[in-house]
Amino acid sequence: MAGLSDLYQEILLEHNSKPHNFKTLEEVSHTSEGYNPLCGDQISLFLKVVDGVIDDVGFQGTGCAISRASASMMTQSIKGQTLEKAEEIFEAFHYMITEPGGELDLDTLGDLETLSGVNEYPTRIKCAILAWHTMKAALSDDSTAVSTE
Ligand code: ZN
Repeated sequence: MAGLSDLYQEILLEHNSKPHNFKTLEEVSHTSEGYNPLCGDQISLFLKVVDGVIDDVGFQGTGCAISRASASMMTQSIKGQTLEKAEEIFEAFHYMITEPGGELDLDTLGDLETLSGVNEYPTRIKCAILAWHTMKAALSDDSTAVSTE
């Protein structure tokens, strides 16, 4: 367990000191803002989707170490993926964070598994999930992808 915890710390630190995709985009097709009032985490997410693929992604915001690391890892994991795959990764991550002890989809999660320790800290779950809900909100805003008929 000590080893797992060290790895967790190390990855959190790495994503905090050098967050991936911490930028705005020149061309944005989807955007959304997320806020976690319990902790004060705030994120603005920008996506550029081309032909059903997440061509580029960036985020801005302020927040605690976990929210920042999770946002960094989220952008890293969905960049270059299809919208379907991004949805799949969201589901796998959501399950991992909210269902402690559940069987993890490690193929889908990849490095995201290192955030699984968060589910032992109920107050931090919202920090970890914030960027993911923001991503989902941004994508569901796409009127071409949602059929109302
Ligand atoms: Zn937080």
